[in-house]
Amino acid sequence: MSQKIKGIGASNGVSIAKVFKIEETKIEINSNKIVNVEQELETFRSALKKATEQVEKIKEKALLTLSEEEASVFDAHLLFISDPSIIEPIEAMITTDNFNAVYSTDVVMKQKIEEFLAFDDPYFKERAADIKDVASRIIKALLNIESVDLSEINEETIIVAEDLTPSDTAQLNKKFVKGFLTNIGGRTSYSAIMARSLEIPAILGLGNITELVENNDIVAMNGETGIAIIKPTEEEISTFKNEYENYLNYKKELETFLNKESKSKDNKKVKIASNIGSVQDSEGALKFNADAVGLFRSEFLYMDAENWPTEDEQFNSYKAVLEKMNGKQVVVRTLDIGGDKTLKYFKFPEEMNPFLGYRAIRLSLDRKDTFVTQLRALIRASAYGNLAIMFPMIATVDEFKEAKKIYNEVYEQVKSEGYEVSENIEVGMMVEVPSAAVLTEQFCKYADFVSIGTNDLMQYTMASDRMNEKVSYLYQPLNPSILKLIKMTIDGAHKAGKWAGMCGEMAGDLNAIPLLLGMGLDEFSMSSTSILEAKKLISEIEYSKAHKLVHQALKCDNEFEVKQLLDQFKKENEIL
Ligand code: PEP
Ligand code: MG
Repeated sequence: MSQKIKGIGASNGVSIAKVFKIEETKIEINSNKIVNVEQELETFRSALKKATEQVEKIKEKALLTLSEEEASVFDAHLLFISDPSIIEPIEAMITTDNFNAVYSTDVVMKQKIEEFLAFDDPYFKERAADIKDVASRIIKALLNIESVDLSEINEETIIVAEDLTPSDTAQLNKKFVKGFLTNIGGRTSYSAIMARSLEIPAILGLGNITELVENNDIVAMNGETGIAIIKPTEEEISTFKNEYENYLNYKKELETFLNKESKSKDNKKVKIASNIGSVQDSEGALKFNADAVGLFRSEFLYMDAENWPTEDEQFNSYKAVLEKMNGKQVVVRTLDIGGDKTLKYFKFPEEMNPFLGYRAIRLSLDRKDTFVTQLRALIRASAYGNLAIMFPMIATVDEFKEAKKIYNEVYEQVKSEGYEVSENIEVGMMVEVPSAAVLTEQFCKYADFVSIGTNDLMQYTMASDRMNEKVSYLYQPLNPSILKLIKMTIDGAHKAGKWAGMCGEMAGDLNAIPLLLGMGLDEFSMSSTSILEAKKLISEIEYSKAHKLVHQALKCDNEFEVKQLLDQFKKENEIL
């Protein structure tokens, strides 16, 4: 009999294949004492050596299928394996207390994992999974337990596991691994992000899938709906095959949009751009043929560094992105740090409300040296492509004017030093604070463009912390209040003769796109993988009808009514 189960659809796609189960060997750890300290230390050090060699090998293989950034997770693993703050306490437990190496490793690594889980910063929290991965690798090396080598899989399979570690995921060969199913995890866990990047269907959080299936069982899975069927009947297989066909056809249809112009059914042209966080991310923008980079989150250059990045370091990154984009506009946002984004090398003041405090442009205007270094790097890089700059979290016209004044001074300075610079750098701002949305027309006397950051605009409008699950119900992109602010922003920019873009998540939200198009948004900037779907949807909408829809939506009382209107609009116009 077949069995249908539902988990969290984490990466789209449909597959039918045999199960390959990763069974974790149950490791019993005892706290036995050892007699020969020297020998135990020797065993421990050779386990570290073995673990290092394994990670280096995995990294090498991973680089064949992943970007350098994705494979860089293994640099973190190598750092942990040689980190004195981990190795020294383990060796101390062996030498001073005569505990065995396995027990000592387990105790110290668990403490380290707890330490990382306690961080507020999601970046450090996520590193806990890497330490767990490294701990298990060292312990297995100590006990001579061989790990399954997933890169050796050479027939079509669906992997089933408790969870997939970063090392597991990086070894998956797309040609044979047709999907994976795990007991734990969700849409934002590391394995989900990797699955989407490798374009392998995945369903996570299935609870006890490892107990429900045996090796070689056939499983059918749909990574979009989150449904998997164990030992499907002939009829179920044929339904899945149909879904699979539809999925393939849909993907093929999407690909036809790669080289099409971004425009509505009645030929209103828009720009569909990419959001990126690193030089490597521009590969995605190129792969999906983005019209521009609408947001380069420059803070990642700072967050990944051990110290304030120098002018030359930043210059090299900006230049690389501009050159890769080959003449297409790249909007770099100046440092947007503070709130949930912290730096290893800078102590932020203790604040009651960090999201409302010392962050983004407020910090740049206060730490002028840091701001000038970034502007110098940007202006020097402008000679290598089509650069635009925007300032984050602008709340008052005076703030924008002050930032622009510093920019103008730096521009003249860099030019006078003999650097070649572009004459056409647009300087704009993010609209993330309601005060800027309300007054966009005035801001646009000075700003060349605006880009709406709905992630923050929504949290400030609804007074609801975007990191707090308890108030996440207030994340309502289609709430008429949010729509009204967005419309005011776009209208304000247009009245001043400037363009308006959006780089918050909402720009790639298929539910919101008809309304944003109807409001006359000029540029939609989103994660690169959303571009083709957005382009297809826009091509199916008549701008003139969407424009009328906006007026109806703004009269609604709540998000639910707007959703109903949208459903009706899609039905009437046979969209998607
Ligand atoms: C936003 O606030 O919408 C935005 C794009 O910026 P970030 O998500 O980086 O805060
Ligand atoms: Mg923001």
